[in-house]
Amino acid sequence: MTIDPADVRDLLGHPGVSRTVHVRGSLDGLGTEVATLKTDEPVEGDLLLESVVEGILATGTLGGTFALRCARCLKEFEQPLSVDVHELFSISPEPDDDDVYPLGTQGWLDPEQMVRDAFGLELPFSPLHSPDCQGLCSVCGGDRNLGECPGDHVETDPRWADLELVLHDLEERT
Ligand SMILES: [Zn+2]
Ligand SMILES: [Zn+2]
Repeated sequence: MTIDPADVRDLLGHPGVSRTVHVRGSLDGLGTEVATLKTDEPVEGDLLLESVVEGILATGTLGGTFALRCARCLKEFEQPLSVDVHELFSISPEPDDDDVYPLGTQGWLDPEQMVRDAFGLELPFSPLHSPDCQGLCSVCGGDRNLGECPGDHVETDPRWADLELVLHDLEERT
């Protein structure tokens, strides 16, 4: 499933006229190693489409769900997210105008790229499953949130290892 385009022929050329459309669908392949937009939960919301001289102005709030992996303890979790959009779609955008989305020549508005861009900007680089996540122990790998690490590791400095051997020898001789 993707996001269906909306027929906006009734709006084009009638500045001031507006209409709300309900958008619902899913987007594939949006994500990073630690954060992806779930495809089995819909991206959904209402978009107000306003006819303006330049084309169609699309405004609204869309909800979706991210599947995330905690950057500290690697726990997988989900987080709902909503993004606000406010974008212009134009029949004849300037080739170098990145802020404007093209309208289909037949009078269809395809919101998919706009939705992709909006959620893409919200992908977290370093998600935390909880703001006070304790993370994994660097010595034993135990999850500190679950008390898996005893927390009493004696951290031996490798520079002292030889000295410990010498001391051990001395103890054996006496
Ligand atoms: Zn965590
Ligand atoms: Zn540990």
